[in-house]
Amino acid sequence: MSGKALGVKTTRAAIVVNGQPPSDYALLEYDQGALYAQLSEVFRALGGNTVWAGNDSPAVVTWRNNLFVVPVNEKGAALNGEKVILARETLVYEGKLYVCLESLAEAFLGSVRFVDGTLHLNLSLGRLLGLQFAHNSLVFSWSGNQRTTALPSAQGLCLEGTGWPAALRAVTMERTPEGHVAVKVDVRGGHVASKRGEQGVKFEWEASPHRLRGRRIALDAGHGGQQPGAIGPAGYLEKDLARQVVDRLAAELRELQVEVLDIRPNDQSLSLAERVNRARQGGAEAFLSVHFNAHERSEVCGTETYHSAENTQGRDLARLVHNELIAALKLRDRGVKQAAFYVLRTQPEVPAVVVEIGFLTHPAEELFLAKEATQQKAAQALCRALARYFEA
Ligand SMILES: [Zn+2]
Repeated sequence: MSGKALGVKTTRAAIVVNGQPPSDYALLEYDQGALYAQLSEVFRALGGNTVWAGNDSPAVVTWRNNLFVVPVNEKGAALNGEKVILARETLVYEGKLYVCLESLAEAFLGSVRFVDGTLHLNLSLGRLLGLQFAHNSLVFSWSGNQRTTALPSAQGLCLEGTGWPAALRAVTMERTPEGHVAVKVDVRGGHVASKRGEQGVKFEWEASPHRLRGRRIALDAGHGGQQPGAIGPAGYLEKDLARQVVDRLAAELRELQVEVLDIRPNDQSLSLAERVNRARQGGAEAFLSVHFNAHERSEVCGTETYHSAENTQGRDLARLVHNELIAALKLRDRGVKQAAFYVLRTQPEVPAVVVEIGFLTHPAEELFLAKEATQQKAAQALCRALARYFEA
C-alpha cells in the first residue's frame, strides 16, 4: 500500500462517461487540481470489467476488446500489450484504486472536460480518418499519437456483420508518415462491397467464398518421385515448384473450410491412372493439376490452361483459372486450350483442368516462378478461380 498522503480534498460530482447518463463518483482533488476517480467505477459505467486483487497487484480492465493493465502507484500501464505511460501514477485511497482521469483520457485518445460541476469524460479508440478498399485489403486510417496504440483488434472488427470472421486473414498496423495509425485488414479470398449510407460508408462481406465451404477439391501436383518433369537452366524442377504452389493453394482453400484432396502429398512417383483414381475415390468435385512448361526454344514463355473438349465444366473452370493467373502473374497469355490429356479425358464428370503456370525453360521466367511471392500470387489466383467457379 502506498504511504502517500491522499484526499487533499474530496468532492462528489456527476460524471458523464461517453455521453451516458451521469453517475456520481467520489473525486479526489489531488496534486495541483488533477482529478481522480475509482478505476472500476469508470469502466463499469462504460460496460467494461475491472479485476483487482488489491495490494500491489495490477488491476486488469477489459473493455471493448481492449485489455488495459493498470499498475498500483505507477505510471507505466499497458494497453493491449503496448506500454502506455500515464501522465500521473495511480493511487490507492481507502483500499480503492484511483486513476487520474486526464491520464486515462489521454491513454484512450479521449478527452476530459469539467463544466458546471459535471465532468465529461470521453474515451475512444481514436478518430476514424478514412476507409478504403484496394488490392483485396481494407485500409483503416486512425488518428493517434505516439503514446497510444489503442487499435481495434481483428476480433473487434469481426463483430460487425456475420461473414467477417472467415474473411479476416490478417491485421497489420503501421504508422503513416503523417503520424496516423493505419490498420490494414487482409481479406483475401473473397469480395468486399462498400455501401455509402447515412452513417457513412459500410463494408459488407459477400458470401461467395462460403460456397466453397465443404467442397472437396482435388489438387494434383504434377510429376513427382522419379519424374521431375521440366527442368530449368537454374536447376529448378517442375515437380518441386508444383508441390510448392499446391501447398500454398491447399492452405488458402483450407482456410475457407474446403476439403482438399492432396493427390500427390509427397515426393512420389504416381501414375496418371492412380491420380484419377484417388480423386474419384475421394469424391472430388473439381480436379486441378498444377504443372510448369518446357520448350526446346528457351525464348518460349507464358501461361496456358487446358481442359478436355467435351467437358464444359472444365472449360468454365479453365477460363477462370487462366484469367486469374494472367491477371496475377502477368505472364504471356498463351490461351485456354483443349487437350485430351489422360487426367482430363477420364474425368468428364467433374471440372478438370491442367494449368501450365509458366515455362521453366525460359531462364528469366524460371527464376520468377521459383520466387515465394510468385507462388503465393499464383496460389491466391487459383483460389479465387475456384471460388468464382463455385459461386456461379
Ligand atoms: Zn508437367
